[in-house]
Amino acid sequence: QSQSRIPLGNTNDELAHLSTVFNDMLDKMQLYIEQQKQFVEDVSHELRTPVAVMEGHLKLLNRWGKEDPEILDESLSASLQEVERMKTLVQEMLDLSRAEQVEIHYKNEKTPIKQVVHQNYNNFKMLYPNFVFNLDDDLNEEIYVSIYRHHLEQILIILLDNAVKYSTDRNEVHISIASDDKFVHVAIQDFGEGMTPEDADKIFNRFYRVDKARSRHKGGNGLGLSIAKELLLGYKGNISVDSVLNHGSIFRITLPIYKETDSEL
Ligand code: ADP
Repeated sequence: QSQSRIPLGNTNDELAHLSTVFNDMLDKMQLYIEQQKQFVEDVSHELRTPVAVMEGHLKLLNRWGKEDPEILDESLSASLQEVERMKTLVQEMLDLSRAEQVEIHYKNEKTPIKQVVHQNYNNFKMLYPNFVFNLDDDLNEEIYVSIYRHHLEQILIILLDNAVKYSTDRNEVHISIASDDKFVHVAIQDFGEGMTPEDADKIFNRFYRVDKARSRHKGGNGLGLSIAKELLLGYKGNISVDSVLNHGSIFRITLPIYKETDSEL
């Protein structure tokens, strides 16, 4: 691999400079290729489990299911569940790949953040009546952020879904929204299982789950947070987490406030 690099001369001339630039490019491409390879490996790995589970159930059906209605029922519904999981996985991979192109396609979007946060807050209250949702809104008036509305909704849904999914006995979710002169800050807090600092460093990585079996049981593929992060970075925003194991987590997102000049970029 090092042989394919352009050798650096001793001179300090333009050629030497160019060689450095080319070598940097080679390194970046190498890294990109490695990442893509890793991604394909991860995807194959993720698809193997649902396929194996379905294969098991189909074999069972083939052998006993024709006479035994109980096996028939159970194996059919288990197989359907795996099909659902694969559908979600494919959709999430598409979302992830599109999120990488946000900068190119969604430069001039402008979305009323107050309205979208309130709307999602109301939706979740309706969806989960056994949960208490609080909304602490510090914004006096509507503020527009530079993001495509659907993407903002997608990020909020990922975080609110997780807050519900990883709550334990205290079914409470706090949402807050505030701003400074450049950014809007939204925080989503739960009082659920939380995580260690080591896990907190990794949960934005693709396919990373703190507890694979448990997350899988809850229908998770470990892609939600990486989609959210990829989207936010694409819009020059960010996401972070503060979490304490067995006490809960706060996810914070920031998004740049829309400026009229943005549309001229
Ligand atoms: P998943 O589909 O598994 O939920 P995510 O990418 O959304 O995938 O999250 C990755 C992992 O981060 C989860 O599997 C879970 O272990 C952890 N996690 C995410 N949100 C929370 C939360 N609110 N509380 C505790 N753990 C969380």
